[in-house]
Amino acid sequence: MKFSTKQIHAGQHPDPSTGAVITPVYLTSTYANEYLGESKGYDYGRTINPTRVALEQNLAALENGKYGFCFSSGMAAVQTVISLFKPGDHIICSDNVYGGTIRLFEQIIKNYGLEFSYIDTSDINEIKKAIKDNTKLIYIETPTNPMLKITDLSAVKNLVKGKEIITCVDNTFMSPYFQNPLDFGIDIVLHSSTKYINGHSDVIGGCLITSDDKIAERFKFLQNSIGAVPSPFDCWLILRSTKTLAQRMKDHNENAIDIAERLTKEKKIEKVYYPGLKTHPQYELSKKQMRGFGGIISIELSSIEAGKRFCNALKIFQIAESLGGVESLVCHPVSMTHGAVPMDIRQKIGLTDGLVRLSVGIEDKEDLMEDIENALADL
Ligand SMILES: *Cc1c(COP(=O)(O)O)cnc(C)c1O
Repeated sequence: MKFSTKQIHAGQHPDPSTGAVITPVYLTSTYANEYLGESKGYDYGRTINPTRVALEQNLAALENGKYGFCFSSGMAAVQTVISLFKPGDHIICSDNVYGGTIRLFEQIIKNYGLEFSYIDTSDINEIKKAIKDNTKLIYIETPTNPMLKITDLSAVKNLVKGKEIITCVDNTFMSPYFQNPLDFGIDIVLHSSTKYINGHSDVIGGCLITSDDKIAERFKFLQNSIGAVPSPFDCWLILRSTKTLAQRMKDHNENAIDIAERLTKEKKIEKVYYPGLKTHPQYELSKKQMRGFGGIISIELSSIEAGKRFCNALKIFQIAESLGGVESLVCHPVSMTHGAVPMDIRQKIGLTDGLVRLSVGIEDKEDLMEDIENALADL
């Protein structure tokens, strides 16, 4: 089945009691046994909920995986991945992952005796050098935020062949429509469904998808034991959103490709970062492992003042954290999302004070371009 069919039908069945075409919001914390010990497979709402099951099956299908697990946030999904490991285990992590992920690893998980190395995973030799006897996980984000660097997923898979190392990819930026890490042999896919999967900026959620039976069994146990599960209503909202994921992603992509190309011709912009530009150093790799390039563009302006002035001058693009919604947003990472990242790391990854990140929405692209041009004229 093709993506646009799966997004509407996978995991969705007319409700057995009424025939309702849309999966109901099952607001119940518990389920009655017909006779003692005879349940219908449902016992308690933290453990299982029919609206959640429908979403989990839907997302698993979209990522070409066997099992899906939903959580109350993307961070709860990251916590669940990390809970597979124990003190003494070593984890290799992309040096430019989501700030909240580094905060969780450095300020919480490290206290429990796990060891982390942060490296540029877009350089496969760096990963090779970082692997130790106790390495248990390689945690990758591709493309990265906000520098949009790409990690070669097939190369990572080849590198860990025959080793007991689990690989996990945070696929939030591409969504399942443009990239399916499991197809490259990656073990776990993670999403902040808050972003493109939900896409309407009205839910916080996360998910994990895998085809590995053993990892799935552990995730089921951890999801129930930790208890960071989403509400049935949030699951229902996300299910409503996945039905249009392909259509939204096509629009994000088409707008962003065109806008990124036009931005390269603007004199006040020193650099444009977008994996869909032929000048992106990993354009060929992007084409190989992604079916599109997404809606995130980063641009470099001359100074911190120029970055701030540009954001303030935009009218359609709203200044806000987050990304992946239908509306366009702008973010100045140094003053907002990446303010806590130490200076030396910012320099290492190329995150300058004048860097601005655009989350290109699905509005009319001429309106968006006009908004950007007006803001640039102000500088
Ligand atoms: C937002 C985000 C997260 C965290 O997800 P929440 O839903 O905010 O908890 C993780 N990874 C990436 C790439 C994100 O953009």
